[in-house]
Formats: sequence, C-alpha cells, structure tokens
Amino acid sequence: MAATDTDKRIAAVYVEVAVEGVDRPFDYEIPEKLRPVIQVGSRVRVPFGPRKLLGYVVGFPASASTPRLKSILDVMDIKPALTPELVRLAEWVATTYLCPVVTALQAMLPAVLKGKYRRVFRLADPEAGPLLPQEERNLLEQLKQKREWSQEALLNLPGVTLPLLRQWVEEGVLIAEERVGDRSTRKTRIWISPAVSREELVKGLESVPARAERQRELLQHFIQHPQEQVQPELLAQFGVGRSSLDRLVEKGWLKREEREEYRDPFGGRSFTQTQPLALTAEQQQAFAAITEPLEKYRWQPVLLHGVTGSGKTEVYLQAIERALANGREAIVLVPEISLTPQMVRRFKGRFGERVAVLHSGLSDGERYDEWRKIRQGEAQVAVGARSAIFAPFSNLGLIIIDEEHESSYKQDEQPRYHARDVAMRRAEEHGAVLVMGSATPSVESYFKARTGAFAWVTMTQRVQGQPLPPVDVVDMREELKEGNRSIFSRTLRQELEGCLQREEQAVLLLNRRGFSTFVLCRDCGEAVQCPHCDISLTFHRTNQTLRCHYCGYAEPMPQTCPSCNSAHIRYFGVGTQRVEEELARLMPGLRVIRMDVDTTGRKGAHERLLTAFGEGKADVLLGTQMIAKGLDFPRVSLVGVIAADTMLHVPDYRAGERTFQLLTQVSGRAGRHEIAGRVVVQTYTPEHESIRLAASHEVEEFYRQECRMRKIHRYPPFSHVVTCLFSHPDRTRATQAGVRAAQALRPLLPQGTELLGPVPAPIPRIQDRYRIQIMIKTETHMNESTRWLEALRQLREQKGDPDLRIIIDRDGLVPTAESIEQPN
Ligand code: ADP
Ligand code: ZN
Ligand code: ZN
Repeated sequence: MAATDTDKRIAAVYVEVAVEGVDRPFDYEIPEKLRPVIQVGSRVRVPFGPRKLLGYVVGFPASASTPRLKSILDVMDIKPALTPELVRLAEWVATTYLCPVVTALQAMLPAVLKGKYRRVFRLADPEAGPLLPQEERNLLEQLKQKREWSQEALLNLPGVTLPLLRQWVEEGVLIAEERVGDRSTRKTRIWISPAVSREELVKGLESVPARAERQRELLQHFIQHPQEQVQPELLAQFGVGRSSLDRLVEKGWLKREEREEYRDPFGGRSFTQTQPLALTAEQQQAFAAITEPLEKYRWQPVLLHGVTGSGKTEVYLQAIERALANGREAIVLVPEISLTPQMVRRFKGRFGERVAVLHSGLSDGERYDEWRKIRQGEAQVAVGARSAIFAPFSNLGLIIIDEEHESSYKQDEQPRYHARDVAMRRAEEHGAVLVMGSATPSVESYFKARTGAFAWVTMTQRVQGQPLPPVDVVDMREELKEGNRSIFSRTLRQELEGCLQREEQAVLLLNRRGFSTFVLCRDCGEAVQCPHCDISLTFHRTNQTLRCHYCGYAEPMPQTCPSCNSAHIRYFGVGTQRVEEELARLMPGLRVIRMDVDTTGRKGAHERLLTAFGEGKADVLLGTQMIAKGLDFPRVSLVGVIAADTMLHVPDYRAGERTFQLLTQVSGRAGRHEIAGRVVVQTYTPEHESIRLAASHEVEEFYRQECRMRKIHRYPPFSHVVTCLFSHPDRTRATQAGVRAAQALRPLLPQGTELLGPVPAPIPRIQDRYRIQIMIKTETHMNESTRWLEALRQLREQKGDPDLRIIIDRDGLVPTAESIEQPN
C-alpha cells in the first residue's frame, strides 16, 4: 500500500556516507511542505552529524526508531531519481553481493546525480506569468534581478516555498538545472514562433512604424514562414539584435520558448531507417519463444544459442518491436567493447529517437541526458553496457543480454554484481522475458538451458548461407623443429599472402596484450619484476620501457640484469608491436591497423580504427581480444590466431571456457558474407580440448566435457564460489586476517561446504600490498539469512585496522584472467 501524503511523516533514508558499519537507513522527519514531493526513490539532503549529506528515501516507517528525529532539509528531484522497484533492487544487490545499500543505490544513477552538484533556477521566460496571481508575479519580478538563483537564495525570499518552486517548474515559468562543477548538465535552446494568427500578424505589421525596419522584417518573415525558429539563428539571419525581437514578443505577436535539448553523443548523425527483415525459419522459432511469454506477461529466461551470423540481432530487434507495440520497454545489454557504431546504428536505425544509448565513452553530461530520456519516458529502449541494466524503466517487457558469456558483465569493483543475475531479478519483478544470446554461452547458462531452468533455442545456420569456416590448427612445436623461428607458421603466412593477392582482408588476433613480453636474463634466468607487485614487467617497444600492467610502474629498459649484472638480457614473448614489425618485415607494403590498449586509449580511437578497416584502408586488423567480438566486415576472409594457448595457463577455472569462447568467436569473424573464410590457429598445445573442440566446431561436446570437469571439481554451475581477499602492506597482518577469518567462518559453514585457504592470491602482491585469499565453495543455496555470509559482512565492517582491505566476491575469482590483463 502506498502511503498517502498525510501519513508520510517519517522517511527511512540511506545516507551517502563512507563510514563502515553504517549500512542501515536512518529515520528522518519529513517537514509538512515536503510531504507531497517526497517518494520512495527521492534523493534528499539530510543533516548527518555536523554535515549535510545526500540520502535516498527507501520507505515510510509508521513509527520512528528514535524519539527525537532530525528533519529532512531538502528534496533534490521533482521526480524521484529512482523508482520503488530500483530501491528494492538495490537492497537485493546489497544482500546478494555483500555491499552497502548506498553503494548499490549509487551504482544505479548517472555520475551527475551523485556527489557534488548544485541546483540553480532561472526564469524560463521573463515575459511569462501574466496568468499567475499578483503575489506570484511580484515574486517573479524580483527574480529578474539575477540571471540564475541558487535554491537557498530563492527560498530566502519571503513568500517563496519549495512547493511553489515545484509548481513554477511544472508550469514552465522556472527552469531548474543541476550543475556539476561549473558545467550545465542540461542544454536548452530558445525557439521563436508566431503567438497569434497570420491575420493578426498582418494587422500588427501595419501598426509598426516604418522606421522600426528590423521589427517589420522579422514580422514579415513570420507572416510568410510561420515555422518556429531557433533564436540565435533567426537573429543571425536578419542581422538584428535581441531588442527588436523583444519588442515583438512584448506586443504578444511572437512567442519565445525555451526548450530542453539533449546533447547528442552521436553528433547529430542521422540513422537510416531500417525495416524488419523476413525471418528465416530458425529466427521465427526464436522469435516465437520470446514473444509467447512476452504477450502473457510471463517471466521467462531464454537462452538463444545461435552461431555467429545466425541473425540473433534481427530477432532482438523484432522482439523489441513487439514489446514496444504492447506499451512495454526494453533493455539491451552488449559488452562495452562491442558497443560499436555498427551496433548502435542497428538499434537507432530501427527505433530512432526511442533509443537511449549508455556507455562509458560518453561524458557525464551526455550520459545524464540519455538516462533522463529514459526516466522521463521519452526513450523506451536502452542500449548499453553492464550498468544499463539499471535503466529506470517502469514497465519492462524485455531484457536482452547479447554475448551473455562475456566476463565484462561482472563488475569487478563494488557493487560486484553480475548483470545477468540482476537482469534475472528485474525480469522476474516485471514479468518480463530475459533473452541471453550467444554463440558460445557460459557453461552456467548452457547447463541451466539443458536442465530446463531456461528455455533453450538454437540457431545453427548462418543467415547468409556461408558455412562456418574450416579451422587449421598449426602445431608451433613442429614449426620450430623444422627450423621456422618466426612468429608466423608457414600456413598462416601462405594464407596471408593469398588473402592479399585476392584483395581481401585478414584479422589477426594476439591473445592477451603484451603479457608475455617479459625481459629475461639468460645467465641467471631471472625475469625483471615490478618492485611493487609480484609480477613480471612488460616490455614496451615504442619507448623502450618496462612497465607494470598492474600499478603503472615504469622504468627504462635496463642494459644489464638487475640481479646478476649480466649483459645477456633480452625480451621474450610476443606483443602486438612485435607482430606488427614482423609483418612489415615478411610482407613489405602490407597495410596493418593495430588495435590494443596502446592504440585505443583515446576517446573515439577504437571507432576510428574500425571504420578505417571497414573502408578498406588496411589489409590486416591486428589486435587483442577486443577485435574478437561482434565485428562484421564483409571482406574479411582470413582469421589468424597467433598463439591460442596463452590464456590456458592462468589460475582460473574458467580458462578452458574462455579459450574455447575466444577461438569460436574470432573464427566467426571470417567469411560472414559472400567470400568464403578460413581460420588458422597457431598453438603449442593442439591436443588441448578447448582448442581441439573449438577448431572442429564441436560445441555440444565441449560443453559436455566442461560440465563434467566442473562437477568433479565442484565449480559453478554445480556450486557457488565466494572469494575473500585480504590485502595489507604488512605480509604478517594480511596472513593473520585471513587465518582469523577462516577460523571464524569454519564453524558456521553447513555440511559439505568447503573452505580453501588462506593461501597467497594468484598474484601475491600488488602495489606493495600483500594478498591472501580464502575460497568458499558451497552447494547450498545462499540467501540473506545464510549465517556465514552475515559473518563475512560483519568481518568487513568490523575489521578495526585501517590498512586492511577486504574484498568479498561471489561467483568470480579474484583476480580473474581479465584483471590480470587489464589492471583497471
Ligand atoms: P548475429 O547477431 O547472430 O551474429 P546478425 O544479426 O548480425 O547475426 O546477422 C548476420 C547478418 O545477416 C547481418 O548482416 C544481418 O543483417 C543479416 N540478416 C539477419 N537476419 C536476416 C534475414 N532474416 N534476412 C536477411 N538477412 C538477415
Ligand atoms: Zn607493479
Ligand atoms: Zn641475471
């Protein structure tokens, strides 16, 4: 039951405060004048100790927890930033991923709405308000003194109240803006249009004296062209000043309107409208599996297991169309890296202005604008990376997670949520359909589909009819035996040459950027290590430096070994730069675009490089994982994997799965259109199952084997894994913390739950902090009342040592293979 305005006397508020151990709501009194405005999800300003902090209203308790309550000072939004559903979701995220509720609440909002910003007001139109009561008009008259007013200053004017401000904003008399720093978060434009009929304009024109030439011109213009115009453009067109225009507005012939304008992150680019394609039989069947529960408002997870190029995206588009037709909304999650212009174009092309796009490349202001379109109900489709799962829709019909196996759906900082699980929760609340699409589903989702927990649809045919490309696995040990010391096998080199002759394009993948380019001393065998982390430094060829991919430490390439002073030091392994050089040596004139963390650092670089490749400005696209996904270039006929096994040796139970997925995905980039494709995979371990089965496209077999392994070793989906990482500058303290935690937890664990450790983490030291980890594997269901989880939470809150950091993570190892590769 929603509380009526009158019984909203007390609000439960989570306060944005970074003190450990205060993860609970505080009760505040709601001043009478704020009662009509405050709702669940409102952001409010409250006194907290000596400070005034931002907080989130999560409920209206009937009675107060303490006798003397402080009052809420202020409410930040006219329309609450969050919906009640999102507030419930935040509580769920906090319990599930063991983080403070306020952290979960903050994760749902664009940056602009958290932290420091101020609210200012401006008169929308100095001429406005003739219909308002006299007192209000007098008040507004005072506002003309200043261009903009802070909320405090306004409320200090006698007679101005918060409800009155709210009313003015709603009537369009006043404009409220949020400012972060000095930047306006909202953009507006002033439009001029006729305020009266054409006849009256003509009559008006007669009364304008001939010497007021400018005014006459303007009027004449609007008599002939009644369309509204943007003020600055109009003024420029006639070379007149604002005063002439002001006269005409004052006379009531023209009207001036200030309208909000959204910053357009796509730079006003227009998107060609596309029409739904006639679905193939397989697509039709997938479409039906989605729309049938959709029409019935039935919560339903669906795994859409379709090979690359099978037309999954077209199915998404048509399913969204159906959801929209039913007055519902849709969220589409794609991995950040595949949120390319190509992808955006497909959604914008079908749904135009109804699409809001959220990704990390946007400025805070742009992001806020996109978010606001959703909150205001102007956009019904949100396309974005992980955090778009929190899009503030209120009537979701469909959530789509493309490439659902991607590890980037798991956030590796607080709140450490997995977007797939959050999506599951939201879909359930809304009676929505959750579609998880992938050519290489996660083992977890695959298992759930096979065992009936998810609906399962497969698409095995490529739309364009091209079969999956043949894959050649080349054993690099054999190459070496036969005297080929190059990075390139003879097969790959031949294929590259053929590709070049036919004027086709190639994609070359080097797994894990530069990771293996360490510097080794041939005399003592030492690899040069980072002085702050227990990991080898990586050689960067362009500026001859050694860098730590974890903490950013850099030093010039040493001339002699730091351990034994020998001069026999050299770098080993292969980085993208090295491959590029070798290509230049082997095939002079070959045009290469290199994409890795070094070349894509700047905003928009990623996009530019891909566009250039798409336009045929290079023969080869060389890069790391980032090139494996979602790219669709018709002229690519060859895909080469330089070293398939680099990822197999990281301490992560998902290593085999990741390798299989990467190889399958990258193979899917070849021959997507008319040109037949082929794939060459170079490896030192051709017998490894992940490599062998990916090469032979034996998908089912791979999942069967992987599930068997996971079952034997009790890994997800057959268990939950919770990892706790204790880090401390002092090695003994870190160890002690781990030992104490293990001792406290052990007696609480249910039968059959394993606790492993404490042991040093896979990387035992990062940034001079020693790292100890505990892993808990459990097959029992975890919920809020799980005692050991509660104990874990308390552990973090009561640690008592400011230098100790505790990270608790669920269903993802710390650190994962990804975080080794991409420290940030
Ligand atoms: P996926 O998302 O499964 O990799 P896409 O949706 O990108 O596949 O489809 C691959 C290609 O096939 C795209 O170029 C797309 O426009 C085209 N396509 C998809 N569905 C159809 C269809 N029903 N008829 C014709 N072309 C289609
Ligand atoms: Zn380091
Ligand atoms: Zn040495």
